[in-house]
Amino acid sequence: MRNMNSIDLRRALAERIRYYNELGIYDFYRRPRNESRSESVLTEEISESTASFQPELREEMAPRKSVAVAKPVDESIFEILNPNPEQGVSDPVGALKLIREHLGDCTRCKLYQQGRKQIVFGVGNPRAELMFVGEGPGADEDAQGEPFVGRAGQLLNNMIKAMGLLREDVYIANVVKCRPPGNRTPERDECDTCSPFLMRQIAVIKPKVIVALGAVAAKNLLAINASMAELRGRFYDFMPAGARSSDPSWQGAKLAVTYHPAFLLRDPRQKGEAWKDLQMVMKYLGLKPPRQNV
Ligand code: SF4
Repeated sequence: MRNMNSIDLRRALAERIRYYNELGIYDFYRRPRNESRSESVLTEEISESTASFQPELREEMAPRKSVAVAKPVDESIFEILNPNPEQGVSDPVGALKLIREHLGDCTRCKLYQQGRKQIVFGVGNPRAELMFVGEGPGADEDAQGEPFVGRAGQLLNNMIKAMGLLREDVYIANVVKCRPPGNRTPERDECDTCSPFLMRQIAVIKPKVIVALGAVAAKNLLAINASMAELRGRFYDFMPAGARSSDPSWQGAKLAVTYHPAFLLRDPRQKGEAWKDLQMVMKYLGLKPPRQNV
């Protein structure tokens, strides 16, 4: 696999880091750089060691083994290996702030140069029991820097209200934080690059329930390819990649799937179906049934 490109390499490294995280290993160290070794040799070493990684060899790995990365190869690879700055920060407000700072003026995927006005990080209660996740910002969201503020956002607000909650009670975010041009569906590499930040937001907020709005959000969160008919109508156990499953205060969220509000605007006949999904969530959260439907 000497020809592994940087995206494949990053993805493979991220997978490996997730595996270490699942073992409870979060701290990684950079081995002092050996000036005599060329950049290409180090790149190949990383590629080969990653490519040769086999599940059956996992138990042979020393838990504290260092992962060496040469700085000149690619700073973003080293970023993957760094512990997330919010780790160990118990206050979700401060932890979300650290994630936002880490995101910075992000150029990690190509969406940064495809006309975005600003990054749309997420909004709402950092201690929310209920979180909504859509696929990406649209024109209104891009202009205002807040998810779900256009017509679809109004409908989402009504859905939240119908559940007996306020928008301020929940947390709302998207799989990608920059507007795809022409509101196209975010592409696989864009979702793969951006979604780790969403996973970190979820891990900090620790919601009881996540509602995936639409198939794109659902497929990205659940990493399964299925139709809305197959995805809806049940809860999934959800633990964001990289989160500490041993955290005694949070054992993950229940994830439900419903229609994206923009779809419901186009096909209002499906509102009744969406309402069934929300009622399932309300029952789980013990929310009082409202008097009016959405
Ligand atoms: S979509 Fe996400 S990863 Fe891509 S540039 Fe925007 S913030 Fe960065």
